[in-house]
Amino acid sequence: MRFQVLGCSGSIGDHYKTTSFLIDDDILLDAGSGLGTLALDSLRKIDHVFLSHSHLDHIALLPMLVDATLSLRDKPIVVRGIEPTLETLSEHIFNWKVYPDFRKIFSMDHAAVKFEVLEPGTPVAIDSRSLTAIPVEHSVPTVGYHLSGGTGSLVVATDMTVSEGFWPIVNAIDDLRYLLIETAFQNSRLNICKDAGHLCPSLLGEELRKLERAVEIFIVHTKPSAKKQIQKEISALDSTFEIRMLADGDVLEF
Ligand SMILES: [Zn+2]
Ligand SMILES: [Zn+2]
Repeated sequence: MRFQVLGCSGSIGDHYKTTSFLIDDDILLDAGSGLGTLALDSLRKIDHVFLSHSHLDHIALLPMLVDATLSLRDKPIVVRGIEPTLETLSEHIFNWKVYPDFRKIFSMDHAAVKFEVLEPGTPVAIDSRSLTAIPVEHSVPTVGYHLSGGTGSLVVATDMTVSEGFWPIVNAIDDLRYLLIETAFQNSRLNICKDAGHLCPSLLGEELRKLERAVEIFIVHTKPSAKKQIQKEISALDSTFEIRMLADGDVLEF
């Protein structure tokens, strides 16, 4: 399986791009500004979109993906998310005001897009790959994902703050190989982390004490303006894990 990081930054600036991951060539996980790096022919191949939550840095380019590929595809793009996420998209994005409701726009005999509600804990199998939503704490209803079907499993949790229910699920994944976890702010912004539902290095350190598996850890969703400070504070953590920063353009093969 190929897991390509189109964007994994917590915001934009200096060419950083927000959250979007491409799994092989047909599954997209979040649709932040990283999606804009793909050629039209690659956009056309995306059949499935899984969303973590409704925040703009994760959905900004979804309407334009649907728009750009409508006349190039012979079936709808299937967008999956938990119910509150899809409701927010219906109400605030695909509402004919911000953008058309592409569920009602047809090319030949198919709608441009269709929504499917995800139940956390219930795997969705797509050929040999499987994605399972894992609830996490954030400022709006949010899920991380357990991706399996390669030579190991990957869990991605962007965005999240202290999440008690998340770790027992992660610890039960026997073949867990990679954990991608957010650290949006530096330690001096602890209060913002608590208010906005994010992690800073000190909270990350506490969360990682709940992790019981030897896995490779990659940090995502850092704010570009604080990236160096976050990196420094993570390096200073007294953690048994090797923790690396994930970058836009990285590829994990497993
Ligand atoms: Zn968010
Ligand atoms: Zn975010």
